Amino acid sequence: MEDKNCVFCRILRGEIPAQKVYEDDKMLVFKDIEPKAKIHLLAICKDHFKLLSDMDESRAELVKYMLGKIPLIAAANGCENGYRLIINQGGDAGQTVFHLHIHILGGEPLPW
Ligand code: 5GP
Ligand code: ZN
Repeated sequence: MEDKNCVFCRILRGEIPAQKVYEDDKMLVFKDIEPKAKIHLLAICKDHFKLLSDMDESRAELVKYMLGKIPLIAAANGCENGYRLIINQGGDAGQTVFHLHIHILGGEPLPW
């Protein structure tokens, strides 16, 4: 279910522009507006759900699908030498957008 005010649902609806690098019927990958590394992409699922704890079996399949696609997408977008995936969950992790997303960071050696 889409959420009217969710910023990532708005990107999915084309209401907010984004620099898209990959899209299919289940997911979208675009450049983070405030990159924390030389390459910083966000992979989002087209289904709106907030947290890993909202996951059911079909959403788990969706996350598995995204993880399966990410290696090729990352390699095709400047992360040939490796990358880091991050899923922030909740306040302590600094999550700001409550639509499940996977950060893809790379393009340079990353500090731990
Ligand atoms: P979180 O902290 O929730 O895991 O990460 C949300 C990410 O979304 C942040 O890195 C932030 O820069 C990015 N972001 C927030 N709003 C927009 C937007 O409108 N466009 C793009 N491309 N990225 C956004
Ligand atoms: Zn959303």
